[in-house]
Amino acid sequence: MSPAIILVHSSLLFDPKKLEFLRDVTIAVNSRDGSIEDVYPRRGDSIPEISDHDIDLRGKVVMPGFVDSHTHIFLHDYSERTGAEQMRDESPVERVVRATNHARAALLAGYTTYRDLGTESLGSADANLRDCINRGLIPGPRMFVATEALASSGSYEIRRENRAGGLLVPRASDPCDGVDGVRAAVRRRVGDGANIIKFYADSRRKLMQFPPSKQPDDILFPPPANRRNPAVPCFSQEEMDSIVREANAAELPVAAHAGETKAALMAARAGVTSVEHVLEDTCGHWDELFAALKRQRCVWVPTLAVMEREAPNETFQAQMLAVKRAYDEGVRLAAGGDTGAFAHGHNVREMELMVEAGIPVERVLEACTVGGWDACGRDRCGFRFGWFEKGTRADIIALETDPRADRHALRKVSFVMKDGRVWKQNGEAVNMICNTEWPQDPVPEEWKPEEGYGFLGEGY
Ligand SMILES: [Zn+2]
Repeated sequence: MSPAIILVHSSLLFDPKKLEFLRDVTIAVNSRDGSIEDVYPRRGDSIPEISDHDIDLRGKVVMPGFVDSHTHIFLHDYSERTGAEQMRDESPVERVVRATNHARAALLAGYTTYRDLGTESLGSADANLRDCINRGLIPGPRMFVATEALASSGSYEIRRENRAGGLLVPRASDPCDGVDGVRAAVRRRVGDGANIIKFYADSRRKLMQFPPSKQPDDILFPPPANRRNPAVPCFSQEEMDSIVREANAAELPVAAHAGETKAALMAARAGVTSVEHVLEDTCGHWDELFAALKRQRCVWVPTLAVMEREAPNETFQAQMLAVKRAYDEGVRLAAGGDTGAFAHGHNVREMELMVEAGIPVERVLEACTVGGWDACGRDRCGFRFGWFEKGTRADIIALETDPRADRHALRKVSFVMKDGRVWKQNGEAVNMICNTEWPQDPVPEEWKPEEGYGFLGEGY
């Protein structure tokens, strides 16, 4: 049995609150409740007495576990299969099994928290997956989930040209309209276990008017030449206000999807916790938007990683410039890649792009730790994580190299602790319940549930 307090020693530790790298700090972890008991500087690099239970991370770069502020645990890389095909054609069983792998990959990449913004046609299964992780059945990040996103009628749906015969496809959102209707939808999400309310402030909802670009030759007279299906608002200002008001009543944060600045501005005015994406500005609203985001203390999660892959390069480059400008003007940023549209485990691409946009690495690390906690609703989410202080969750990771000197450092995570429990050590997965080595390494005969993983073992 491990002692109540485990000491984690570092020689270089990133403090996202101070935005500084500190020397020779030890963290005392309460192994019973998975929280941090104390953080204190040592005198010099040497440690007089190091116990067998201590964890020695000297020589590495220690920091709080990463928070991905925009993920979809049930989606896998769009280059393998489009989102619409995944939603329509993959069985719930396949999607859940995939999500199990995604959760493990994310944790091993140093992501101890996921802000998961919608199941994409799998109902409220994310709430159940979250609970499976919390019960120790599978390894994975701490999840805050949205269940189904809210969208107005006919907005966020799977495109289908032939509806004859009443073809049914799984719904991609919870459709709702009107001040009362959206209020009821928020209540449904609360009832289904959501930690966060997500709604589509806008959407490329004139989908049937703009056939997919992959089949341009099929159409003799395409819609306005060279025009991309534009994002247009899904809700009125009154409806957005009503969503936020009802979420506030349930003490839940709100995330607003917005492709364009126009709807992002409406969402910010409604008082949402965060706006997601905001790729284009066709009406000249950037300045107004930045001012509103600052005024409302609203977080911007630009999801650069998905835009790099999915948006036209010119549009993506404009967004990179806008993100840098927002940073310069003091807009609160959080790092979330829309992970799922690209592989879970490669989440750090978002931080790499923020650095490429010109944001100092210390501020990027802050956006991926404390910024993530802000996006999760701060104390409303029920936990503190993303920095080291008595009472915060013991989410501790270590990098092999210094991110100030090595631009690939964020991909070299060799140690992961979440809630005081170690999941990766010396670059190897440990304590994995669904370890990929299991087929070759069967459960030993002397294995007993109380000593095993996944039940009410130590620390749980
Ligand atoms: Zn998304």
